[in-house]
Amino acid sequence: MVTAANISAQPVWQILATVTDPEVPVLTILDLGIVRDVNMVDGQVQVTITPTYTGCPAMDMISMNIRLALIENGYSNIKITTVLSPAWTTDWMSEEGKQKLQQYGIAPPNAKQAVCTPDSFQEEEAIQCPLCKSYNTKMISQFGSTACKSLYQCNECKEPFDYFKCH
Ligand SMILES: [Zn+2]
Repeated sequence: MVTAANISAQPVWQILATVTDPEVPVLTILDLGIVRDVNMVDGQVQVTITPTYTGCPAMDMISMNIRLALIENGYSNIKITTVLSPAWTTDWMSEEGKQKLQQYGIAPPNAKQAVCTPDSFQEEEAIQCPLCKSYNTKMISQFGSTACKSLYQCNECKEPFDYFKCH
């Protein structure tokens, strides 16, 4: 729906496209899909975001970065609202964002592969190595460099890598 509020919010979306995730600087917050809504109401910029992970410390920094980016661009009346429901899922991440993650050396979410075993056909969580693309990988630690990632190692190229956890 195009309304006056949507039209005046357009420049705000362009500013938000420059705000990056402090943990994964190649991803913008639009790539992550955490911006739910932008509205201009009586001269106030209202941005609604949904955190990727509840309690993720990066979210406070993201809120602050949104505020700073808007202030830099001449907005002073800013309201940032955090909405927890519906919860963010990795499906909200853009395809471009997933590609950027892989290029950055982090296995993107939902990199699952259907695995056939002799007696069953099942979907196993096979994580693809972002370096050599092998699915022959194993988890080393549930927590990687941050709580939002797990640490994996590739059995083919032996390289450790971060995996952006699924929801
Ligand atoms: Zn590999």
